[in-house]
Amino acid sequence: MKKVAVIGYGGQGAWHCTQVLKSDVTELVGIYDIREERRAAAKDNGIFVYESNEAIFADKNVDIVVVATPNDVHEDLVVNALKSGHNVICEKPVALSVEEFDRMVEAQNESGKKLSVHQNRRWDVDFLATKSVIESGEIGEVLRVESRIHGSRGIPSDWRCHKEPGGGMILDWGVHLIDQMLQLITEKIVTVNCNTTHYTNEEVDDGFRLELGFQSGKTAYVEVGTYNFIAMPRFYMQCKEGSLHLSDWQQKAKVAKLTRWIEKDVTPVQNAAGITKTMAPRDHLTLDSYEIERPISDVHNFYRNFCAAIDGECEQLIKNCEVRRVLGVMEAAFKSAQDKQTLKVDI
Ligand code: NAD
Repeated sequence: MKKVAVIGYGGQGAWHCTQVLKSDVTELVGIYDIREERRAAAKDNGIFVYESNEAIFADKNVDIVVVATPNDVHEDLVVNALKSGHNVICEKPVALSVEEFDRMVEAQNESGKKLSVHQNRRWDVDFLATKSVIESGEIGEVLRVESRIHGSRGIPSDWRCHKEPGGGMILDWGVHLIDQMLQLITEKIVTVNCNTTHYTNEEVDDGFRLELGFQSGKTAYVEVGTYNFIAMPRFYMQCKEGSLHLSDWQQKAKVAKLTRWIEKDVTPVQNAAGITKTMAPRDHLTLDSYEIERPISDVHNFYRNFCAAIDGECEQLIKNCEVRRVLGVMEAAFKSAQDKQTLKVDI
């Protein structure tokens, strides 16, 4: 069992503590938070509280330090934890720029320890269902994937609504959805276009719309909204031989597989003020429609994998080169939104 200490006992730090306690590969040795009330909350929950972050770094008993603080303080904590001889799990987004992440990776390489980023949404069932349809090839090669997450409550009124600590939705939710997208389409990205929304917040984006162009012509769309009172589908995908529609993470994916392209006698349908053959829906003679069972997923495999990677038994599932690519896309998204231009990129 790997001994884990958590820095930052807020929403996500407390979540890690719960998972680390439940896990079959980790045990919780303690936490530290700069806020007195959070340290008191941890004590109330029976968790050992260190005197400082430095006290965690000095504890040779600790195998893994989890960093779960606001985004702007990740770098210092990650680098210090690595330099003091600990493996590190850092919350997403690991850094505010590629440059910052490169310094973390340099510290990792010098330390001989391991750094992983908590991209836990790779275990989301909706994402796994979409991925399984791509991998099975049952509706052919991907043409376009659209991934959206829509809420209606604006940005939480904490550090997330300010620029300096790394707030805004590109950094908060975008990092998850972009990470997932680059697992679905693994080709080189050649164009990035992004625009941000500021319906509820001037300082940082409360949503964004990001279009990615890939080398072979495949495209992807990633959208995060916090001012959507009716949500659009979580995933929508067009492939060469069918389409996928997944309304939200509670639901099964619906797949429509084309079995025959040609229909001899399409009956025109009446819609609105006219008739159309082009938009006439298909029937079972040319389309096979079915649902995909929700895949089984266990987010504890994140910890299992990292602990096994520390012991040299396997590779890390969340690879630092993948994390770096996602940060590259986010940097390009910010630039595209600021310059109001589509960027040609090589990511
Ligand atoms: P939060 O504000 O609830 O908690 C952050 C805690 O860190 C606070 O209690 C704060 O006092 C403490 N802190 C700040 N600076 C510190 C320092 N130098 N040393 C020790 N403690 C310090 O925020 P949160 O929602 O828990 O988010 C924390 C991190 O977790 C962010 O990076 C966020 O993006 C990430 N997060 C990830 C997920 C996920 O699903 N992977 C979900 C939520 C948040």
